[in-house]
Amino acid sequence: MALVYKLPYVSSSSSSSSGQNFKHFFSIPKTICSLNYKASPFTEKHSIERYQRDHWLYKNQLDYQSSSSCPLPSDKESIRENDIALQLPELRKLLQVLRGKRMSCGKDGGKCGPGNVFLVGTGPGHPELLTLKAVRVIQKADLLLYDRLVSNDVLDLVGPDARLLYVGKTAGYHSRTQEEIHELLLSFAEAGATVVRLKGGDPLVFGRGGEEMDFLQQQRIQVKVIPGITAASGIAAELGIPLTHRGVANSVRFLTGHSRKGGTDPLFVAENAADPDSTLVVYMGLATLPSLALKLMHHGLPADTPAAAVERGTTPQQRVVFAELKDLADEIASAELVSPTLIVIGKVVALSPFWPHSSKEASCFLEAV
Ligand code: SAH
Repeated sequence: MALVYKLPYVSSSSSSSSGQNFKHFFSIPKTICSLNYKASPFTEKHSIERYQRDHWLYKNQLDYQSSSSCPLPSDKESIRENDIALQLPELRKLLQVLRGKRMSCGKDGGKCGPGNVFLVGTGPGHPELLTLKAVRVIQKADLLLYDRLVSNDVLDLVGPDARLLYVGKTAGYHSRTQEEIHELLLSFAEAGATVVRLKGGDPLVFGRGGEEMDFLQQQRIQVKVIPGITAASGIAAELGIPLTHRGVANSVRFLTGHSRKGGTDPLFVAENAADPDSTLVVYMGLATLPSLALKLMHHGLPADTPAAAVERGTTPQQRVVFAELKDLADEIASAELVSPTLIVIGKVVALSPFWPHSSKEASCFLEAV
């Protein structure tokens, strides 16, 4: 139906190219212009450069080096430390420094307890969507572990002395397993560091934050969660979609389209999710959308239910496809949307001033397909 790009913001009192004044509660795009929407705002594309900047090495790079430069102790107790050390020699140096500081801290009356781990939600990408608490913690961290959905703009807030470690899982090169991430968090917290685990959106919404919290708490490490704006809220606000609306949607449901076992059809929820009075927000849903849409319609959701798919929402590279449910999968395919894309299905989508059938001003968006 329509593909729209996010365009430079002007204030809500500014005029559109047609000279008409807009009175929306959010900013309105100014003009249509070409954007390099392929450039990712997220860290996935930049992590190698970051490592190079910080002179950090991956395991496979290490393998090229003389093994004598990094001998492996054989005792079992040091396996955790040396697993990390093998992956990133710089981490070991940092651990040593932190442990040294910790050993001497009792002598001068300093604090010697374990450090803290903060699970920090960074929102959907725009740095101004961070909480003040998140900014404060990011700026005082010793070590930050970050995912691929943490935007580069957010990482720009990190202090110059902090160490940044990419632990995203889909960057196409060596990345950490969940167990390795647990071990990293634990080792550094035990050494007294302030460790910040940055996660896109909210850490407790499809973020595996619960697992990390659980693991650390079992190890008696204090974990604090700083919430972030989940993609659903950030993107709904951006598009002017009320996720609930009196008389239109009395509930909202967050679904994952992703199967834990890696299959393509995890959508056993479709039957009770096919509620016309509810809003469905599908995370990680690109691959399974065709199947989900069919099932939702099969279970009674009208084929003309309004829907939106939003790629890289809230960032300058945001792209949006609006379509009725029956056409959504095809429209997404022809627009070639890529991850991260969030899908919103429900009557509330038509309340967006950008819904193409809206009587309001949708014409300020570029219609590319
Ligand atoms: N914890 C995150 C969700 C992580 S799951 C949160 O609360 O938002 C990853 C999925 O979130 C992506 O596949 C996509 O569906 C969605 N997502 C996260 N950020 C997004 C963004 N900026 N634009 C579009 N979708 C996004």
